[in-house]
Amino acid sequence: MAQLIDGKVLSAQIREEVKEAVSIRVKAGKRAPFLTVVLIGEDPASASYVKGKAKATAEVGIGSDTLVYDASISEKEVLEIIERLNNDPDIDGILVQLPLPAHIDERKVINAIAPAKDVDCFHPESVGNLVIGNDGFQPATPAGIVEMLQRCNIPTAGKHCVIIGRSNIVGKPLANLMLKKGIDATVTVCHSRTKNLPEIARQADILVAAIGRANFVTGDMVKEGAVVIDVGINRIDDASRERGYRLVGDVDFEAASKKASHITPVPGGVGPMTIAVLLQNTLKAADQK
Ligand code: NAD
Repeated sequence: MAQLIDGKVLSAQIREEVKEAVSIRVKAGKRAPFLTVVLIGEDPASASYVKGKAKATAEVGIGSDTLVYDASISEKEVLEIIERLNNDPDIDGILVQLPLPAHIDERKVINAIAPAKDVDCFHPESVGNLVIGNDGFQPATPAGIVEMLQRCNIPTAGKHCVIIGRSNIVGKPLANLMLKKGIDATVTVCHSRTKNLPEIARQADILVAAIGRANFVTGDMVKEGAVVIDVGINRIDDASRERGYRLVGDVDFEAASKKASHITPVPGGVGPMTIAVLLQNTLKAADQK
């Protein structure tokens, strides 16, 4: 039976470290780091993520505010807001909650964020630094996964890491992090056009699922002793719950945990780690000024 990788416990360690560093910073006479979150429209999932981020910053002593705008705001107005936040010396990190309404070009908005304040690590300059291996902001979800592996003493050097999913938020930046010197995995990225995906998944020492489909990874896709990281967050109907649904990952947890050496749960796995890395990045943004 697989050992559970507890994202709540591991993310609490990181939050404690950030809290300590913020307190040292403030004792030295510097102001607390400050994050501004921009929320456009009324997507309930986005609103809930933003709330979680505001709570997490407050708990570690990072200041934050959330600027909420109606979905009808124009792209030009959003770009002007970003410009104002870029020029505000009291703001260290800027995070624009995605997705944006269809009439706003996400790329344009991301490109407008000053790279020094790009705590989501989505700006092309941040992505470039990641690919080259420069020291910079960490992509939140991928870095959260690496933190999990390292804090559980799971070796990565020379291990075959198979990532299912090639998004700009998870799959691609994770592939780059796993390749980085010091992490040194051999990486395969699978996607919707990959042939023989189950066969490739079965070769993984570290199998990461970032697809967005419940139970996509079945037990027969997991090698005996593999480490399984489930990034997916999927809602499935559940009449027994008050809200009518429950959250599951992309992995058939029951079946995979019979073969894996380690596995992450959903919820309580990768999710909490993502916010913890955002806090690390905001501290870094303040410290590098
Ligand atoms: P995405 O939709 O941008 O990307 C999904 C990827 O899965 C694509 O690259 C696609 O090629 C691949 N894919 C789709 N169908 C496939 C198939 N049949 N076979 C092989 N590959 C297939 O999604 P994303 O933003 O990367 O998110 C993936 C999942 O992770 C979602 O459930 C999302 O909610 C979750 N997520 C969780 C966190 C977290 O903090 N835990 C963060 C980001 C995303």
